[in-house]
Amino acid sequence: MVKIFNVDNGKRKRRGATPSLARQINIREVLDHLRHKSPLSRAELTRMSGVSAPTMQKLLTVLLDSGLIREVESEVEGRGRPSKSYTLSGRKIQVFGAVVGVTTCKIFTAPLSLELRKIAEYKFPTPDSYDELIGEFRQFMLKQASQNISFLGLGISIPGLVNTIEQNVIVSPNIHYLDGSSPATDMAEGLDLQTLTLQEQLALCLAEQNAGSTDDCNNFVVIDLSNGMGMGIMNNGGQLNGKCGYAGELGHIVVAPGGPLCGCGKHGCLESVASDFVLQRKVSEKVGYEVSFTELEKMLRNGSIDVSKELDEILDYLGRGISMTINILNPGLVLLNGRIFEMIPEAIDIAREKTAKYAMAPGFKECMIKRTKGNRDAGVLMGISNLLVDSISEIE
Ligand SMILES: [Zn+2]
Repeated sequence: MVKIFNVDNGKRKRRGATPSLARQINIREVLDHLRHKSPLSRAELTRMSGVSAPTMQKLLTVLLDSGLIREVESEVEGRGRPSKSYTLSGRKIQVFGAVVGVTTCKIFTAPLSLELRKIAEYKFPTPDSYDELIGEFRQFMLKQASQNISFLGLGISIPGLVNTIEQNVIVSPNIHYLDGSSPATDMAEGLDLQTLTLQEQLALCLAEQNAGSTDDCNNFVVIDLSNGMGMGIMNNGGQLNGKCGYAGELGHIVVAPGGPLCGCGKHGCLESVASDFVLQRKVSEKVGYEVSFTELEKMLRNGSIDVSKELDEILDYLGRGISMTINILNPGLVLLNGRIFEMIPEAIDIAREKTAKYAMAPGFKECMIKRTKGNRDAGVLMGISNLLVDSISEIE
């Protein structure tokens, strides 16, 4: 059953529009129908998908062999004779998703069938060493794997630069012990898992597409302020990586020479003057003690602090960053991810005004600026599930 997921980690052959691509689209469509309504008979699925009966028969065979769907008996109306219907396997086949954050890490399990429904989850403060990090993750994984469940993959999102071909971390400016490491490989050691290491901005792009917030826009960016600053770029429907996967480092463009020291070693990078952490730092300086995000949120909700000046400074820098992005990439949509936008509803309007001040008018006019709806968790699940589901279609 498991060998049908024939993935060569991170080194899949690039294919053009081949018959397998058509199969891939059909497989997704069948999973999608079953996600919305289950069980469905072969006749119903054939009608809904608009493919021929023999094609549907082949698709169902592949999906049954892979373990992603299962057969159930259902009554045929009028005749009372039981017939076969299909439903998602749910808990039987699962993947691991892991998210490394600057302050918190988490790992969870979910069904592989693109349902984005977490089954088990474990959160812990980001440890001080790589060994502790891997140890925490593995403890959870081994416990899960001892149950009667098939785990097929592990997707992990990492803050920093990831070499997507080699699947290792080039540099993580805020968690330097990750530099040069291959966390997914180390976590999966001894377990038969396909692994995928995702730069967190790509995870966010996938999550936004899945959450439906990108509509039909093929050219969009996600700017993430929640762990420093990073940007994921979708260009004509595909990720823009650059030569080695280093594209999108908006956060490390120096905008305030001589400004605060950044994790990358330079002074005055955009992320050192415009991120969630910058707001937290500024508020802490203002009140004279270290304020957590939970406290900050409370203070903002009960109106006991005024952050309009701090917010204006941060969003002015952010507006310059967004304007550079608009001028260079001409996206149709800029999605902003960060606690700032969750805690302060008017922040998104201020960001828009600031961007208008700096961006070229034609590019700004054609670009929507919105908040994100998805999160990294959904992104890593989409990433690893896509990899595995797509690999089914490569079996002839
Ligand atoms: Zn920097």
